[in-house]
Amino acid sequence: MSNIANNLQNILSELNSDVTLVAVSKTKPNADIQEAYDAGQRHFGENKVQEMVDKWESLPKDIHWHMIGHVQTNKIKYMAPFVHLIHGCDREKVLKMVNKEAAKNDRTIDVLLQVHIAEESSKFGFDEAELLELIESGRWSEYENVRIRGLMGMATFTDDQDQIKREFATLKTLFDKISKSFGDAFDTLSMGMSGDYPIALEAGSNMVRVGSAIFGARNYDA
Ligand SMILES: *Cc1c(COP(=O)(O)O)cnc(C)c1O
Repeated sequence: MSNIANNLQNILSELNSDVTLVAVSKTKPNADIQEAYDAGQRHFGENKVQEMVDKWESLPKDIHWHMIGHVQTNKIKYMAPFVHLIHGCDREKVLKMVNKEAAKNDRTIDVLLQVHIAEESSKFGFDEAELLELIESGRWSEYENVRIRGLMGMATFTDDQDQIKREFATLKTLFDKISKSFGDAFDTLSMGMSGDYPIALEAGSNMVRVGSAIFGARNYDA
């Protein structure tokens, strides 16, 4: 068995059946993705729209493509025809533009609202007050071609396990608190990467985004 297939199998053996594994393939060649695909993997994550479009065009059409990176609103139109789930909706302008491009493509696009949980200040996302305001105003429901499926968050990049635990717990608490407000489709909590997914699972994640633990280290970080 190839390394990639082996790594996938090892990670999948740690996941309950209700957890979705998104294999993060950014910067990796199509051959690596095909290898994971041949081992049964169908969910892949990319953080650059153009790279995801190129891969979508040349790889099997039953792959579910996840946009996990920061979303530039002028690029949404390129992924709107096919993207499976946009994790990085980190401001209302993104919701608005996804709605517009989804309507043009006659589809409803699933999204996650990215929440700022890291104690470090560089990460994107809504904070709790902004989310509560979005709910209370009812504006979220006016984006009729967008379906809000849940929340996404990234913990601080640190060796401090307690801090990571704390940040994931904060997101889980928020998820539970607001889950009723966004309707029945709100069921996805995307948290956990190669370095911290076991902690995320313990905290209640049901979608993990794992790259280097499957495909090996990236040459450059995109
Ligand atoms: C790159 C990336 C990942 C995967 O990172 P690994 O450490 O390689 O598992 C997960 N989530 C986001 C948002 C990323 O950009």
